[in-house]
Amino acid sequence: MSSEDNHIYPVFDQILKREDKEKLLKQRSKVIWCTGLSGAGKTTLAKNLEKALHVQGYLTQVLDGDNIRSGINNNLKFTKDDRKENIRRIAEVSKLLINSGVITINSFISPTEEIRQVAIDIIGEENFVEIFVHAPIEVCEKRDVKGLYAKARAGEIKNFTGVDSPFEQPKNPNIVIDTDKYSVQECLNQAMDCVLPFLKY
Ligand code: ADP
Repeated sequence: MSSEDNHIYPVFDQILKREDKEKLLKQRSKVIWCTGLSGAGKTTLAKNLEKALHVQGYLTQVLDGDNIRSGINNNLKFTKDDRKENIRRIAEVSKLLINSGVITINSFISPTEEIRQVAIDIIGEENFVEIFVHAPIEVCEKRDVKGLYAKARAGEIKNFTGVDSPFEQPKNPNIVIDTDKYSVQECLNQAMDCVLPFLKY
């Protein structure tokens, strides 16, 4: 079917480019993708990164389970296919945001190479900054902020990453942040040192 058949008429020559938005905002837009186990510290880092970048004049948007699973992806479950669809949609939303010049900070377990590759293929490797937020599973399980590990161990939650579903460590992240070794502030400083060179206009 041609684009005329479905009444879609590309008008790319009239649309402002990403570079125009980046110039307006005086920033380079990237997707900062935080991956790691539940309880590793992704949300904490993503929120602190957003605050620290805001103070320095950067426009950002955090995407996490709270605003994605409850909204655009509220029809998805945790089956293998739905997890992949979850990430595919997140990646597409991230792409729209970076094309608007907005730095996107994502906080998702994104447990496998395959799933992260889905995101990278959509977003583009050159736009993707990967942060591996790491703490040993024993530490994450001890933190168990939401009581999810206890439920997974009791068999009340199935396919829980780290318990009965695998987490594959990323092979080439831009940075590994060990949240069991460094304070929240130190982790933030490490992340800022890593991401700022990508974002400076
Ligand atoms: P995730 O989003 O990966 O599930 P959270 O950000 O909710 O993890 O963090 C889980 C727990 O770990 C929280 O209680 C948080 O305060 C704590 N935490 C996060 N980062 C650190 C850190 N660098 N040092 C100590 N505790 C941390």
